[in-house]
Amino acid sequence: MMLVAGFLGGCAHLTQKEFTFVQMCDPQLGFGDYEADLNRFEQAVEQINALRPDFAVICGDLVHDPAKKSFGDFATARAKLAMTSHCAAGNHDIGNAPTGQTLQVFRESVGKDYYSFEHRGFLFLVLNTQLWKSPLAGETERQEAWLHQTLTAAARKGRPVFVVGHYPPFVKTPEEPDAYFNLPLEKRMELLAAFERSGVVAVLAGHTHTTALNHYHQIQVVNSETTSKNFDQRPFGFRLWRVTPSGHFQHEFVPLTRQN
Ligand SMILES: [Zn+2]
Repeated sequence: MMLVAGFLGGCAHLTQKEFTFVQMCDPQLGFGDYEADLNRFEQAVEQINALRPDFAVICGDLVHDPAKKSFGDFATARAKLAMTSHCAAGNHDIGNAPTGQTLQVFRESVGKDYYSFEHRGFLFLVLNTQLWKSPLAGETERQEAWLHQTLTAAARKGRPVFVVGHYPPFVKTPEEPDAYFNLPLEKRMELLAAFERSGVVAVLAGHTHTTALNHYHQIQVVNSETTSKNFDQRPFGFRLWRVTPSGHFQHEFVPLTRQN
């Protein structure tokens, strides 16, 4: 449970040097006590800085209610990270049914809601999963076209891919029925098949507030602990991922040193 290993088999573009990155989930400022949520997020930032990972990804639900103050407080705390951080958009950030306006607020307050970046031969895709949970004409199609183009290019280069988003494709089994915590079945199967064809090695998600380590064939699907509320009574914290030159990757839970 604490240390989970994976292996990138047969990848041509492996890193020459081990690297680490952090997965944070649902800081969701204001989900519980606003100040306590903020304090725990700041505590996580402090501990992450001490660990010196190459970068951090934050799997959405940055705030509980999108507002100038909450996004502002989030940005101030996030800016204290000593390394680059990459955020995904959650349903609390852009609404259960996102609109042009909620997307605009997010893009102005946080940044892009879907994009890619490379790190040492690995491609990271940050996706706006809400656009599949509640499609928005124009936006959903644009993300999808970009995603398929990006995955095709990654596959052509033989580049291993990490996917980062808010909703996990599924919570327990790939074929489970539609529910609040997963993506719609038909879309989910389509995405998972595309991921598998394109060299995706892991999908990192939040939203469930429950730690889950699942697999879709060779792809790991990982929901980590949060710093706001864990419905499964897991301690508050984040996950440290380590990718080695031989192509192994593993991740372990790092609890906050202050749990209140
Ligand atoms: Zn959520």
